[in-house]
Amino acid sequence: NDELFKNVISHAKEYGFVFQSSEIYDGLSAVYDYGQNGSELKNNIKTYWWKSMVQMHENIVGIDAAIFMHPTTWKASGHVDGFNDPMIDNKDSKKRYRADQLLEDKIARYEKDGKTDKAAQLQDSMDEALKTDNLDALRDLIIEHEIACPVSGTRNWTDVRQFNLMFSTKMGAIADESDVIYLRPETAQGIFVNYLNVQKTGRMKIPFGIAQIGKAFRNEVIARQFIMRMREFEQMEMQFFVRPGSEMEWYEYWKETRLKWHKGLGTPEEKYRFHNHTKLAHYANAAVDIEFEFPFGFKEVEGIHSRTDFDLSQHQKFSGKKIQYFDPEINQNYVPYVIETSIGLDRMFLLTLINAYEEQDLSDGDKKDSRVVLKLHPCLAPVKAAILPLTKKDGLPEKAREIMDRLKFDYNLMYEEKDSIGKRYRRQDAIGTPFCITIDHQSLEDNTVTIRHRDSMEQERVAADQLGSIIGKLVSW
Ligand code: ATP
Repeated sequence: NDELFKNVISHAKEYGFVFQSSEIYDGLSAVYDYGQNGSELKNNIKTYWWKSMVQMHENIVGIDAAIFMHPTTWKASGHVDGFNDPMIDNKDSKKRYRADQLLEDKIARYEKDGKTDKAAQLQDSMDEALKTDNLDALRDLIIEHEIACPVSGTRNWTDVRQFNLMFSTKMGAIADESDVIYLRPETAQGIFVNYLNVQKTGRMKIPFGIAQIGKAFRNEVIARQFIMRMREFEQMEMQFFVRPGSEMEWYEYWKETRLKWHKGLGTPEEKYRFHNHTKLAHYANAAVDIEFEFPFGFKEVEGIHSRTDFDLSQHQKFSGKKIQYFDPEINQNYVPYVIETSIGLDRMFLLTLINAYEEQDLSDGDKKDSRVVLKLHPCLAPVKAAILPLTKKDGLPEKAREIMDRLKFDYNLMYEEKDSIGKRYRRQDAIGTPFCITIDHQSLEDNTVTIRHRDSMEQERVAADQLGSIIGKLVSW
């Protein structure tokens, strides 16, 4: 599994999906750039989410709020006081860790070794310590369970301290304390502060939702596992406003609906599971994670949270503006309750890549052969079809260009004439292109081409005029 994960990471770089940020300067820790194929794949995941959430739900609308927000936003939301991770340093290696992650790793190790009682016991103690913000208790658990620093191997630990995850910067030319603003650590608050604007101008009736895709920033204590935990990342969030008392019903609805969305991409069911939160965030009365089985274990990709009226009430209090809804059905004013679905776009990207990645042995007797293929859902594939003239002469490139020009506004296509056709097929397999269209001498005579299918590697001959509708059918949402 470690091997597989390593191969996926190097494949992602080699084929232009993900690069380390500022790589020529040796990179910036936990920040990544998406390359020519990665940005296409990422955009396609966004489109799949946006269509499913906004276009398919008549009562959900989308917004695009700014990253910078009034500093009071983060006081009201509780992030200034409460958005912390417990950190601990090893005095020998001078390395910094998240105390809860050290404990989680230990729990995983106990489980691996079959010490399930011990694992459960430690989990309970850790949850209790986190729930009560008992930092000393967290340190005691690290000592008691003899957790050593992965780098120095020693158990020479400092105290556990809280570390706020928000990045700050200054706005305007004159810098003083009051100009400090934060880079948003979640997109949700941009939706909450716009609740009244959207509800009024869109004449929205409860229940309704507001969706948004955008960047979020967290100064993670330690960053690991490639794009799983980044300092700059993207979220796709939807806040669904409901009548108080109906929140659990909607919570269940969104749990199921969101899982269905994931399965809609053809991912095997057993790769997914729900994980209920025992330690609830300061704003939630119920929370569940959708977890995916990554090569390094089941990990959260998406959270579904019942946030009560916490955020809107806080903004009402801090802004002095009345944030309420008049519900004509029950003739009452109230602050709506909120169910939120929050998925990390980058984690979804990683999940998609891992799930699609396949190393295939195609050896035939003594003839050794293999390929790496990304079995991406055609809707998500960065390139929908490759246009390949069989040779560089005899008018084949011209014919291929003519076909390309007809289709390229509707589909992201790639034209390639270099190397043997076999090599070109393999390059397309490696980026997940579902169809290769080859133009050969017969094409000049009867205007037909071959389509080669990525997964089966089978080929069929079709009329060139039919290509638009054939590709359209195969890559449609
Ligand atoms: P974790 O427990 O892994 O730190 P979280 O519970 O803090 O995540 P949420 O605040 O619920 O995460 O954020 C919602 C989603 O945003 C997560 O399910 C995840 O997919 C994504 N996300 C959160 N932090 C990061 C990060 N540092 N890098 C990439 N994606 C992230």
